[in-house]
Amino acid sequence: MGGTALAMAGISDTAGMLRGKGFPLADLDKRRRNGVGWTPTNVAITCFDGIAPSPFGSLGDVVLWPDPERLAEVPLVHAPPLRLSLGEVRHDDGTPWACCLRGHLRRALEDFHAATGLTIRASFEHEFQLVGHNGGPAFSVEGFHGAQAFGEALVAALVAAGCVPDSFLREFGPGQFEVTLAPKAALEAADDAILLRAIVRAVARDHELTATFAPILDAGSVGNGVHIHLSFWDGDRPATHDPDGPAELAAVPGAALAGILRHMPALTALTAPSAVSFVRLTPHRWSAAFANLAVRDREAGLRVCPTTARDAAGRARQFNVEYRAADAAASPWLALSGLVLAALGGVRDGLATPHPTEGDLSEWSDDALAARGIARLPGSLDAALDLLEADAGLAAAYPDGFLPVYLAHKRFEIGETAELDDPARMARYAAVY
Ligand code: GLU
Ligand code: MG
Repeated sequence: MGGTALAMAGISDTAGMLRGKGFPLADLDKRRRNGVGWTPTNVAITCFDGIAPSPFGSLGDVVLWPDPERLAEVPLVHAPPLRLSLGEVRHDDGTPWACCLRGHLRRALEDFHAATGLTIRASFEHEFQLVGHNGGPAFSVEGFHGAQAFGEALVAALVAAGCVPDSFLREFGPGQFEVTLAPKAALEAADDAILLRAIVRAVARDHELTATFAPILDAGSVGNGVHIHLSFWDGDRPATHDPDGPAELAAVPGAALAGILRHMPALTALTAPSAVSFVRLTPHRWSAAFANLAVRDREAGLRVCPTTARDAAGRARQFNVEYRAADAAASPWLALSGLVLAALGGVRDGLATPHPTEGDLSEWSDDALAARGIARLPGSLDAALDLLEADAGLAAAYPDGFLPVYLAHKRFEIGETAELDDPARMARYAAVY
């Protein structure tokens, strides 16, 4: 006899994990109306399932409301379909909960639109490694074809979930692959990024493979980046590109990007928030090590990307900038809300478009960097959290009570691997992300 079809309502939480609760699929409409009970203390559960100190303890209740628009249903061959509905956590009277990461992002995007008249589109580019898989040489046809069955199942699964896959490729690192999605309205793009990670892992399991998005597995090699592509739109009119602007950026997007650069060292505590993330954020790994903007430079914190369109209208529509200092330890909702809030601050303060840097910043002296106002990204999660705590602008942009909970969570997580050496710490993260 067949079982009863189950679905899961979930959130991408402070640990960057997708957690939630299951119920009979037939009850989905009822769950959408009434919500699913959720526990405030869950915000303190780390990626290693430790529980950080929080104000909540065993007390209180909040409610996870599954998205009424979207149930991602992903068929698998050797397992039941993955049925996922992402949602927002609110108080039981429907008012916002200070620790709801999707709520933060939704409000940040609304505020950005109210202040500028512009909307933001985003696309998350993900790298991951298939553990123990002989990926074949970097970018090779053998590597690609060796994983093509997995790749084809993955692309089909992403389409079934409502994502729009753009590419699947054998990347550079051992067993490393990359999958990209087409840009979408920013909130939906972040939802897609959350679904994508769950789908990659599920399809990998279906193929008896194990996928890890951990920021870095081996200090002697490259890491797994999450590059967040951003573009700015006035309705359906592209508003990022101005052929006469610095780095071909229009003024408002330029101010927004200057705002991101201003906060970037502190933002890494939200966008690359694991104890191993900062091994990846070092020079010559093609990740990001400085708070700089550069054109077509894969070591830049913000990279102005090339376009394939050669005509002006096509180029304007494709024109985008990617934030490279992110990884999959971060909730896409939280990483993107940090970027949008920093961007909004830049617009409100009328910042000038950053001047693009040229050359290898790791060869610049401290004085040369300081003269250009370019900060190095922090060397550890500890240092990043201290910068976040001291960043009055970002602190004021989040609801009261959220950042102290986040800081306590992440500081507790640091303690969970403090006794380990780097390789052992990376192995711990590889097992959970
Ligand atoms: N693996 C690099 C990173 O950690 C990115 C390589 C690339 O796609 O440019 O971000
Ligand atoms: Mg890549």
